[in-house]
Amino acid sequence: MKILSVNAGSSSLKFTLFEMPEEKELISGVFEKIGLKDSFYSVKISGEKTKKEANLPSHNEAFEILMKELIDNKIIEDYSEIKGIGHRVAQGGAYFDKSVLATDENIDIVSKLSQIAPLHNPAAVVGINAAKKVVPDAVQTLVFDTSFHQTMPEVNYMYAVPYEWYTKYNVRKYGFHGTSHKYVSMKANELLGKTDTKLITCHIGNGASISAVAGGKCIDTSMGLTPNAGLMMGTRCGDIDASIVSYISECENLSATEVNNKLNKESGLLGISGVSSDSRDVEDGIKNGDERCILAQSMYVKKIVDYIASYYVELGGCDAIIFTAGVGENSISTRAQILEKLSCLGVKLDNERNNVRGKVQLITADNSKIPAYVIPTNEELMIATDTYNLTK
Ligand code: ADP
Repeated sequence: MKILSVNAGSSSLKFTLFEMPEEKELISGVFEKIGLKDSFYSVKISGEKTKKEANLPSHNEAFEILMKELIDNKIIEDYSEIKGIGHRVAQGGAYFDKSVLATDENIDIVSKLSQIAPLHNPAAVVGINAAKKVVPDAVQTLVFDTSFHQTMPEVNYMYAVPYEWYTKYNVRKYGFHGTSHKYVSMKANELLGKTDTKLITCHIGNGASISAVAGGKCIDTSMGLTPNAGLMMGTRCGDIDASIVSYISECENLSATEVNNKLNKESGLLGISGVSSDSRDVEDGIKNGDERCILAQSMYVKKIVDYIASYYVELGGCDAIIFTAGVGENSISTRAQILEKLSCLGVKLDNERNNVRGKVQLITADNSKIPAYVIPTNEELMIATDTYNLTK
């Protein structure tokens, strides 16, 4: 059965088509600059990538071109072969603790939740409507970044702010990257050969979050009402003193929204290093003795270690620490720095095993009290799996 996994942004559309349940990736790609000048798209089949220019006034044209590519490349003969389309949705609020069918009622809730996810949810709705228009016979589903975290207890998701902010405006921790935390914890349980596990899953990419997962259920996570909570990230500040917002707003004569933009887009590794949000550039800066890159990396690692230590206590121990996403899968030095700081918990890094990028690997020594693994994430496959289960 052919299942399409879709991630729509305001001007982009990423997709991967799978043959399910075999989990075989048939084609993937991305449409960029939708609704803008110079729009283009790229497709990847059997590892071979081609880039093409295209007029993309809206997401509808992107879906039409995508379907035509599938036919031209002989992946399908007819649109009806696409049985399910799974849409990634950032914010599902407290409404969705699992993936659901994209009924009008559910899409309506996603739209309403735009109030707390103004950058993400409206784009997802545009993508869903475009897919429904171009491929009306496929089962459409909604897969939320937040639903895996819905098992968190109240004590972990409430903020110590006036209670009415929660009842009136839904201010609480929701968490994000849920499909990734779920995927790697399932894979970790397979590796450990049991399901009753205590895991600390570190999704460290440009955006980054850590979760505490007990018996396959999330009990705590570092992101909050929005993705700008918890860890220091590529361009996001993560946890800071909330009073900084009003202070900088007065100092620089900026609105709260303008300060918030700076905290999301000009902070993190970029803000401290002054060089880049990309950890590869920061690593290069460190090699050249750049003091702000050294500081940025030290702060970045400290925050991750703080969360791992806190979740170790919260879980009452830990069966495995998992690293995933761009930095977690690829940065040998960042993983090493994190694990070395955890030596007081009996964690023992194995440098040779850690010399790996982008594949499943145990990276600690056999006598490490807690094993650590690299497990590449696959959010697209998780979306396709949930969609297949709702379609079959
Ligand atoms: P997102 O999905 O949040 O945009 P990714 O998970 O794709 O982010 O991670 C992208 C980040 O991964 C890059 O910004 C970079 O910091 C990091 N990264 C990718 N490759 C490497 C590498 N070889 N070494 C160190 N960091 C890397």
